[in-house]
Amino acid sequence: MSVPNKKHKSALKVMGGIDQPSSVNEEAAGKIKGIGKKTGLPGEYVNGIISGNRMLLSKAITLVESSLEKHKVIAREVIEGCLPYSGKSVRIGITGVPGVGKSTFIESFGKHLTGLGHKVAVLAIDPSSSRSKGSILGDKTRMEDLSTDKNAFIRPSPSGGSLGGVARKTRETVILCEAAGFDTIIIETVGVGQSETAVHSMTDVFLLLMLAGAGDELQGIKRGIMEMADIIAINKADGANKEKAERARVEYENAIRLFPPSPSGWDPRVLTCSAITKSGVEEIYNCIMQYKNLTRENNFFLSNRTIQSKYWMRETINEYLNLSFYGNPEICSFLKEMEEKITGNKISPFTAANLLLERYFGKGM
Ligand code: GDP
Repeated sequence: MSVPNKKHKSALKVMGGIDQPSSVNEEAAGKIKGIGKKTGLPGEYVNGIISGNRMLLSKAITLVESSLEKHKVIAREVIEGCLPYSGKSVRIGITGVPGVGKSTFIESFGKHLTGLGHKVAVLAIDPSSSRSKGSILGDKTRMEDLSTDKNAFIRPSPSGGSLGGVARKTRETVILCEAAGFDTIIIETVGVGQSETAVHSMTDVFLLLMLAGAGDELQGIKRGIMEMADIIAINKADGANKEKAERARVEYENAIRLFPPSPSGWDPRVLTCSAITKSGVEEIYNCIMQYKNLTRENNFFLSNRTIQSKYWMRETINEYLNLSFYGNPEICSFLKEMEEKITGNKISPFTAANLLLERYFGKGM
């Protein structure tokens, strides 16, 4: 991993938490009157979002992220209202260990796309924001060029709550961004654990960034994550590192041949790139387009999205049940009682679980 320079701050250290960004398009903000400090009506948000009003998009995302019940109710209506206008983007998941160059890559890749006339939204799922309120991905100074591009919209990871909760909020934000006309949605996560699965379950194509010369173990990338990747890109293929990157490319290409075939019908590809010099960035985009064309033709693209929607319905139910169960004061004290009995070996964990569930759902469970 290279030493961070001043411009591209390293994501290796945990940042001291982030405020919600003011991704506010001041110009658009001035246009819609009557939506000031008050929350606003769902219909106003929907109309504003589909007409490309950034301020209302940002505010609606804040409602999606809110834990207040009244905000949740409005957010749900806004999402329902936006749903018919959503779905037309390509959703790209990007992962890789801290320092691999994700934000530098997304900046170059995003600029390449906006240069082609695309509208790009960059979202994130950052598990560290749930744990420490600090954030591995959320440094505000990241992607300076892209963040000032009028065809790009960058929103850091929602913070707080379980990974499932954070991921669901990002999944809902995708719908809002698509309704606002963003045709490319990039969802970034850090390649150190469970969050890749969450990103994989809400994207059409999954890009894994890797480094040459560091073993898989060293990079903390598990085989399962490599198996999820549709495209692996060896980043930092520049200067003296170029040859090493090319060797790594061949090695990874050989390694992934041994993986079971993907249900998408696509053979994963391994490419090299440099996020700094931008070489290989266009090839990665072209590769993503090839993937999109193939999976649209063989219908995987749409069937996968349907599977993902069903998955998110179940995830949302799980999250709700979890919060409702553990947030119930009566259950909380009964839970403590059961834990004490388990400690004293007075009850089996299974009986304790059944008693708790019976208490929660009533005897008729
Ligand atoms: P992230 O933690 O994955 O988001 O990584 P960053 O984008 O913050 O990059 C980490 C460090 O690697 C920074 O110092 C970048 O300047 C550097 N870096 C990123 N991409 C490249 C690249 O393609 N080539 C070289 N030489 N350095 C890079």
